[in-house]
Amino acid sequence: MTNTEASAEDFARMLIYAADCIRYTQQVQSYNDCNNCARGCGYEPKWGAMTRINCPLWRAKDETDRS
Ligand SMILES: [Zn+2]
Repeated sequence: MTNTEASAEDFARMLIYAADCIRYTQQVQSYNDCNNCARGCGYEPKWGAMTRINCPLWRAKDETDRS
């Protein structure tokens, strides 16, 4: 007979994994990417394409624009 019920330990492990995913997503979202870059380095994604996060070529559009 197989046990298909998740144990409390399994549930705790899933919660920790979900928290890690949220933390990682927040970290990635804090990076600049080619969507808000002044340079137009050629990696700016087309609609539906992957975004190049934390692009080393990234430049601010305007030093006074910090909104
Ligand atoms: Zn770029």
